[in-house]
Amino acid sequence: MGEFTLGNLPGTRDLLPEDTALWQSIESAARDVFGRYGFAEIRTPIIEPTELFARGIGADTDIVGKEMYTFRDQSGRSVTLRPEGTASVVRAYIQGAMHREGGVRKLYYHGPMFRHEKKQKGRWRQFYQVGAEAIGSEHPAVDAEIIEMALGLLDALGVKARLCVNSVGCRDCRPRYVELLRAELQKSPGGLCEDCRRRAETNPLRVLDCKVEGCQPLVAALPAITDHLCAGCAGHFAQLRAHLDDAGIAYEVAPRLVRGLDYYVRTAFEVVSGDLGSQNALAGGGRYDGLSEVLGGPAAPAIGFAIGLDRLAMILGESRGDADRRGPELFLAWMGDAAFVKALEIARHLRRRGRRCHVDFGEGRLKGQLRLAGKLGARHVLIIGEDELARGRYSIKRFADSRQWEVTMEELEAYLETT
Ligand code: AMP
Repeated sequence: MGEFTLGNLPGTRDLLPEDTALWQSIESAARDVFGRYGFAEIRTPIIEPTELFARGIGADTDIVGKEMYTFRDQSGRSVTLRPEGTASVVRAYIQGAMHREGGVRKLYYHGPMFRHEKKQKGRWRQFYQVGAEAIGSEHPAVDAEIIEMALGLLDALGVKARLCVNSVGCRDCRPRYVELLRAELQKSPGGLCEDCRRRAETNPLRVLDCKVEGCQPLVAALPAITDHLCAGCAGHFAQLRAHLDDAGIAYEVAPRLVRGLDYYVRTAFEVVSGDLGSQNALAGGGRYDGLSEVLGGPAAPAIGFAIGLDRLAMILGESRGDADRRGPELFLAWMGDAAFVKALEIARHLRRRGRRCHVDFGEGRLKGQLRLAGKLGARHVLIIGEDELARGRYSIKRFADSRQWEVTMEELEAYLETT
């Protein structure tokens, strides 16, 4: 056996109990807000055949080209840890023949995604997203509704963010624009970073997305896609903006906003926060009308988005502290063996009635137990000693105002009901 150094992989981390309370509250806000719009949860496998992402995301993308966790399993099949959620959801949509149900199918998911990215603040290799997909319509009102819903979740969480929208055209008009870009880029290859010189050949649209400082003057001078849309795409984009206006949603048109994934057509959007550093994108989304067919399914125009939970938690964590921590409602402090047994019995009884109780298993003295109760964020402590056992009356203390009084078991139960 080789040497073993204990540690998690770079770009991964543990979410500890002091973190997960916040994550749970974000997830439950998502369930609540998305539910109002008719979205139901779907859970797909975290591991998929590699081909699903190679086809669904596009071989020219950074994700497929450089970032996927791909390996062969014991049967020799190439498998990949999912780098994003959309391809799996569309696969499940096709396999479940959901198009037969008619109308727009609305699905949401949350969970871990895996990309072998360069390490930097706000970028993880295992990160978490909550995302939603509305499959089965190309109507721009669907685009506006899903954008409203994404912003609705951020609003419910008290996060201030800015919306940027663009149209990236379609199979008819985009190739002409991409050729135009390629021609422009060939004129001045010297001003581009190494990645962009490659992108100028393989995927010129991605140059627009480059974050390298040196490329910015050139990028800013490139033609804007919004000036080169076909009539269908220009009309769709105008209707989207009208629906957003009707909904009272502020946005800016960002003609250089493109998404990293090949299958996007027409609407592309991003939600950015002023509270994050260079990795300021909180959410990204867009329309992917051709994806279902690329994967061998029926025509199923669709739009979706994903919100990065790590970044959301980072913003909220700073503003909320640990207000969401759910400590025990009752900490049962005991002295002596008989009191210990009684404490376990009371805790068992109250837990069955839905109360959060904690009994310490150590041999600790009362003082130590009270300190632990404070550390755990307990709301009350119940003290059980020999005296209390004999009388069937216990002393209870409420931490919020240090009030202390005596209760019988019935009184305790009744009191906890009111808190
Ligand atoms: P994407 O799937 O690339 O469109 O990303 C959607 C959102 O997921 C982004 O706006 C980020 O908030 C988040 N995200 C993407 N990649 C990462 C990462 N490596 N680490 C943390 N969050 C990420």
